Amino acid sequence: MRIESRIGAVRCFVQAARREGKAVGLVPTMGAFHEGHLSLMRRSVADNGATVVSLFVNPTQFGAEEDLSKYPRDLPRDARLAEQVGVSLIFTPEAAAMYPEGACTWVTVEGLTEGLCGARRPGHFRGVTTVVAKLLNIVQPDRAYFGEKDYQQLQVIRRMVRDLDLPVEVVALPIVREPDGLAMSSRNAYLSPEERRAAARLYAALREGAALVREGATGAQGTARVREVLAGEPLLKPQYVEAVDPLTLADRSGAGSPLVLMAAVHAGKTRLIDNLRVDG
Ligand code: AMP
Repeated sequence: MRIESRIGAVRCFVQAARREGKAVGLVPTMGAFHEGHLSLMRRSVADNGATVVSLFVNPTQFGAEEDLSKYPRDLPRDARLAEQVGVSLIFTPEAAAMYPEGACTWVTVEGLTEGLCGARRPGHFRGVTTVVAKLLNIVQPDRAYFGEKDYQQLQVIRRMVRDLDLPVEVVALPIVREPDGLAMSSRNAYLSPEERRAAARLYAALREGAALVREGATGAQGTARVREVLAGEPLLKPQYVEAVDPLTLADRSGAGSPLVLMAAVHAGKTRLIDNLRVDG
C-alpha cells in the first residue's frame, strides 16, 4: 500500500491502475479509522481493482468553534488498518496543497443543506461538497463510498453528483454500531466513560421512536417519543430530533413511514449524530 500526499502522484497512480484495466474506488475520510470506515474500504476493495482512501481533516468544513485542531490523528495506525483490508493507496494531502491560495471557489448544494446539521453548522456542507468535488476530480474514481451515518451528507453528495453530472457511482453503506448500539464515530473517542455509557441512549431512543412509527404513528409522534427517551438521560442534550423524507429530507412530521428519524445530541462538548430509517 502506498501513502501519497501529492495530487500529481495520485493522478499518476490512478492512470496506471486504469491502464491495467482496473476499476477505481474512492473512500473519502478524515481518518481515526473504525469499523465504519473499514466497512466502506472492504466494500470498495471487493468492487474495484484499486481502492484509494483519502485521509484529510478538511478545514473548510469545520466552524471556528469546532474541533479541527483536536480532531484525532494517527496516520501509522490508520495506514496499518487500511493495508490490512487491501487498500491500494492512502491520499493524505496537506491543507496547503488542497487550498494553495485559500478557498474561494465553492460547490454549494442548496435546499438539502439548509435544515438539520446544515442549520446548526453554517458553512459545513459547503466545505464537504467542495472537498468531495475536489477529491472526485483528483482521483476520478468509478465508485465513491459513503456511510449512512452521515445521512444528510450522503443525500447532499448524491445531489451534487447528479446536478454536476459527475461520472461516479455513489455507493452508500449502512451504519456500523458498537455492541450497545452507539454508531461508530471518530468523535466517540472524546467521550468520558459516563458520557460513553449515556451515548448508547441515542440509538435506543431512535429505535423506540421508529417502533411507534412502524405501528402507524406520525413522524411527529415518533420524534416526541425519541425526545421523551432522551429526556431520561441527563448527560445527553438534544440539538434536534426530526422526521424527514428519506430522499428530499423534507419534513415528514405529519406523515407516517417511509421516513428517517434524524437526531443530533451533545454529550458534554461532544456532538453526536445518528439516524434510523423507517420503511412501512
Ligand atoms: P469521517 O471520517 O467521519 O468523515 O467519515 C468518513 C466516511 O465514513 C463517511 O462516508 C461516513 O459516513 C462514514 N462513516 C463514519 N462512521 C460510520 C459508521 N459508524 N458506519 C458507517 N459509515 C460510517
